[in-house]
Amino acid sequence: MPDILIRDVPPDTARVLDANARHAGKSRQEYLAALLADAASTDPDMVVGFWEAVRGEMLCSKCADCGATFGLNARVFVGMTRGYRLMGPFCQHCATTD
Ligand SMILES: [Zn+2]
Repeated sequence: MPDILIRDVPPDTARVLDANARHAGKSRQEYLAALLADAASTDPDMVVGFWEAVRGEMLCSKCADCGATFGLNARVFVGMTRGYRLMGPFCQHCATTD
């Protein structure tokens, strides 16, 4: 297998990655290899559900699907994929698994 070497990772970033690896019960190597494999995957990761986000914090952001800009009273959703990846934000019209 090929080796990938990454230099000059900020200490705060390394600290968070190591904490995430510990939490997942993996070594740093195992955790980063899994992250890279996930990022390089061509297998479509299906959205399995949507959750409504707190209103107001997404003002002026855009829907990740249709590009609509969220207004003051917009309902904003975040989707979670089968692989536990968060996607979005989505407007109420695009927050569907159809
Ligand atoms: Zn939308």
